[in-house]
Amino acid sequence: MGTNIDISFSEPLWNPEKFPLILAGPCSAETEEQVLQTARQLAQIPEVKIFRAGLWKPRTRPGSFEGVGGKGLPWLQRVKAETGLKTAVEVAKPEHIEKALEFEIDVLWLGARTVVSPFVVQELAEALKGAPVTVMIKNPIIPDLKLWVGALERINAAGIKNLFAIHRGFHYFEKSPFRNAPMWEIPIELKRLAPQLPIIVDPSHICGRRDLLPEISQKAIDLEMDGLMLEVHSNPDEALTDASQQVSPPVLEELLSRLVLRHKTGNPDFENILETLRTEIDKLDGELLQILAKRMEIIDEIADYKRENNITILQMKRWAGILSDRLSIGTHLQLEETFLKKLLNLIHKESIRRQEKIINDKK
Ligand code: PEP
Ligand code: MN
Repeated sequence: MGTNIDISFSEPLWNPEKFPLILAGPCSAETEEQVLQTARQLAQIPEVKIFRAGLWKPRTRPGSFEGVGGKGLPWLQRVKAETGLKTAVEVAKPEHIEKALEFEIDVLWLGARTVVSPFVVQELAEALKGAPVTVMIKNPIIPDLKLWVGALERINAAGIKNLFAIHRGFHYFEKSPFRNAPMWEIPIELKRLAPQLPIIVDPSHICGRRDLLPEISQKAIDLEMDGLMLEVHSNPDEALTDASQQVSPPVLEELLSRLVLRHKTGNPDFENILETLRTEIDKLDGELLQILAKRMEIIDEIADYKRENNITILQMKRWAGILSDRLSIGTHLQLEETFLKKLLNLIHKESIRRQEKIINDKK
């Protein structure tokens, strides 16, 4: 897949040699006081360059807080005037763009729910035509790189050359510690396809919880991403949206001070292949564990059956047969014999332990 993205920045938003670009601010603007208080604290952290706040909130279900809307635009204007921070809001409708431009918002971003719809993205592209603004485009909720690239191309084709991508993780059906699985191979592939396009990582929406933020932020730096967008609230526990993933300004400061900046390898191809291979390993380990669990389930069934029929657990002949059969299969698959013996013994021991437990529990 080729891409057609033409970037040129009319003014440098940050110095990439010094520190990644940091955007921070609340998930949602709630009150003027909360916005200004958070912004004043953030302005004390020199690495923070852009103040983010959601005004129009795309909530999954109706009835929850949907943002203060255009009422928050003058608050952001005050933030800019008072602190010198640039400002960023999410836009999802042409009228949001019009209002945000009226209030001289510096950065408009498209959210993950918006980017899934090419019709909506096209409408926004038309509303943005030629506007002197920076646009950041989040990945769509589903792991579809083409949809992400398509949105970037549509906005770019409307004359927006001050353009960034934001990686905020992807919806994932399996169990995962993350709110949105990072699937790093996708932003890495985007970097390979469009090396000139800066990518900001949004650890807050990837993690969904505070304790994972430092790990994901560091990972973003290690993978040569260009910046971080983090949700910061003056009183995170009381936040009306995404409370569990927001941190206070001092916590952000601590997180930033602990980031280890590394020399760039300048080789996205290498990272891409490595990440693809690691993803494959993660998947296989998952399958391996599922197969083991399935094996243990059947062991439990056998235990029940043996108990009902009053048969001993360990049957040496069966075990000797299993061992020689599996050793032969495994060595044919180029696995080491000593490794195989250890592994099979471990599985066998656990099977016996489970059978004994079942039989003893039901005595
Ligand atoms: C947000 O940044 O507050 C937001 C709604 O994010 P996303 O579109 O990534 O879910
Ligand atoms: Mn949020």
